[in-house]
Amino acid sequence: MMRPLARPVPPWLSATLLATEGLALLALELRRPLRTAPEPKVRRDARNAVIAALALGATTAVEAPVAARLARFAGVRRWGIAGRLPLPAPARAIAAVALMDYTMYLWHVLAHRTSLLWRFHVVHHVDRGLDASTALRFHVGEQILSVPWRAAQILVIGTTPLQLTLWQTAFLASIVFHHSNVRLPARFERVLRLLIITPPLHGIHHADRRELEYSNLSSGLTLWDVLHRTYRSGIAQERLTIGLPAYARDADLTLRRVLALPFESQRDAFAD
Ligand SMILES: [Zn+2]
Repeated sequence: MMRPLARPVPPWLSATLLATEGLALLALELRRPLRTAPEPKVRRDARNAVIAALALGATTAVEAPVAARLARFAGVRRWGIAGRLPLPAPARAIAAVALMDYTMYLWHVLAHRTSLLWRFHVVHHVDRGLDASTALRFHVGEQILSVPWRAAQILVIGTTPLQLTLWQTAFLASIVFHHSNVRLPARFERVLRLLIITPPLHGIHHADRRELEYSNLSSGLTLWDVLHRTYRSGIAQERLTIGLPAYARDADLTLRRVLALPFESQRDAFAD
């Protein structure tokens, strides 16, 4: 069945929302940090910005056109799981965004479980600090390797252009939030974590301990970690060291070294 498509979220609206969120989190990180920073924030953030800019280049050049085309294809044909649901459009949109979030959880598990993807995902994890800039610090190779996964997500779920842009905006807002180094009011955070992954929860995933690697891997809803028994809480941030023991020296963390990291022989990341 062919049908007209609802328009996607305009890029200026997503960009304005995300920029506002980023500036608010940056102000809070300076005022109410959750963890002490291991190196000057300006230096880390500058390095992360370069890694993020390369990843953004790949996203714009490769992922965005592929994803937009497939979403139009899936949308006009009412393709995929969410597209076929006999529900009103708002309910289908919620289902599609939730399924995109769930399949990102699966992608994140794969990034830790498969040696090829881990070579690239390790670049995200060697950061010894954790703040909003870490959320965008993905190796350009990881972005490119994720394109076939994104294509499969869109075709299997039947994500329309509107649903795709809703998910992209929510996804970015969520990962920038839960990587941020912001100490939220404790009672507010305890309620919020019932629904979405919060900074202290995701901090556990970035700890330098092997037994915590498969913790709080969701990029949005806490539900996926609860369902897969990877939800972990109750570990004070002061007791965590962020990063990977095998890559903890200054010399391992220069911009040039981390960009080359996926193409070198790999260390056991959690071994001292
Ligand atoms: Zn990870």
